[in-house]
Amino acid sequence: MGLKPHSDVLIVGASTAGCATAESLRHEGFTGSITVLGNETSAPYNRPPLSKHVLLGEWESEKADIFTDGAAERAGIDLHTDVTAQSLNVAERIVSTTRGDISYGRLVIATGARARQLPVSVDPAQVALTLRTREDSMALRERLENSRSVVVIGSGVLGSEIAAAARKKGCAVTIVGRSGALTLGSVRALLTQRLEQLHSQNGVALRLAEGVASIAHDGTTAHVTLTSGNQLEADTVVVAIGAIPNVEWLESSGVTASAALECDSQGQYAEHIYAVGDVAAWHDSRSGRWLADEHQLTALQHGQAVARHIATGEKAQPPVPFFWSELYGVRFQAYGRFPADAELVTTHGDRDSGDFVALSMLDGLPHGVVASNMSRDFRRARPAVDATLSGAPAPEPAMVPATAPLGGQS
Ligand SMILES: Cc1cc2nc3c(=O)[nH]c(=O)nc-3n(C[C@H](O)[C@H](O)[C@H](O)COP(=O)(O)OP(=O)(O)OC[C@H]3O[C@@H](n4cnc5c(N)ncnc54)[C@H](O)[C@@H]3O)c2cc1C
Repeated sequence: MGLKPHSDVLIVGASTAGCATAESLRHEGFTGSITVLGNETSAPYNRPPLSKHVLLGEWESEKADIFTDGAAERAGIDLHTDVTAQSLNVAERIVSTTRGDISYGRLVIATGARARQLPVSVDPAQVALTLRTREDSMALRERLENSRSVVVIGSGVLGSEIAAAARKKGCAVTIVGRSGALTLGSVRALLTQRLEQLHSQNGVALRLAEGVASIAHDGTTAHVTLTSGNQLEADTVVVAIGAIPNVEWLESSGVTASAALECDSQGQYAEHIYAVGDVAAWHDSRSGRWLADEHQLTALQHGQAVARHIATGEKAQPPVPFFWSELYGVRFQAYGRFPADAELVTTHGDRDSGDFVALSMLDGLPHGVVASNMSRDFRRARPAVDATLSGAPAPEPAMVPATAPLGGQS
């Protein structure tokens, strides 16, 4: 099916945030036309299973699908995959794509992020894998099946999940990280001791204060040279050092920074334009700052909030970050904020060696709660976090008018 020349709501990016926006628009009673464009070839899917069940071979990748052509058709949503948005004309309200131009009433930017590559010598793509897409997950899964040793570069949560999967596949694993600490999503480095212990108990070697100088490949083995001069050898090297927002297609409309798009607390980036999910940083009326969360539930909540705003004009409560991960069968859940200067106070269990619930305390108030395998007590602690975070709001940032260049916002 060809693209229609106009859509009342045009959503660019067909993954969690984009599809949540489209489906929520119908749920909110929006009766206008909705078009979703995505540049991947397959049906839209969720990414969290890619580093867990899909990577381990427990799920076929189709089980992560979230929105089929049939579901889109039933909801009266024009879903187009394999089409790339190339530029935006703000004044004319037109998006140019690889399949022609499309004009819009409202535009929702949901183009997410891509894996950050390692800035080292040699062509890293030849010797190191990254994990962002379905295809990446399948390629890494196959490599893990055929590898005895793996070096994971990146000490964030994705690096930890890949390391845990590689250990489960029987590979010898080393995690290399520059920051000196293991981090866990929004919890940052506050649980580094517990994570170090988990990895060590499961036989993962940690090199947490070393950067990577270069990677070479001799045809069978990758040789990773660390900034300390130390060398590691591995059958497979995986790079998990974060993500870069996909904003380059907006360059012609004035966006020059490679950072997330700074929106108001309802996701509005400029007049008639919203941004949702990993590509967006929404203004947090509690802290007065822009927050880029890069979490699955934030992407969903962004989509739902923008849909409500477009369909009804109602303002939604800004999302409270909710993050989860699973390492070696241990389920971590985190809700709220974990500022670097917060103190983590254990309220149940033992944080350093087992299951626990802990509060992120700042100025005597709980700003976040994190738990390992204690879902019920985690849930019970959430209202106290809500009470703290619903404090006095900061003023909203000014809106960019529809005809002004987009980049001038901040
Ligand atoms: C392997 C992995 C595991 C994760 N695990 C967790 C987890 O356990 N818990 C958690 O909270 N979060 C997790 N996350 C993060 C979560 O998946 C993201 O926050 C979420 O995918 C963000 O959704 P999004 O729709 O904003 O962006 P994306 O998922 O990045 O989707 C954006 C889509 O837009 C497309 N696109 C980009 N540019 C264009 C263009 N110009 N034209 C058309 N289409 C375009 C992209 O190809 C992509 O399909 C994980 C992420 C990864 C990669």
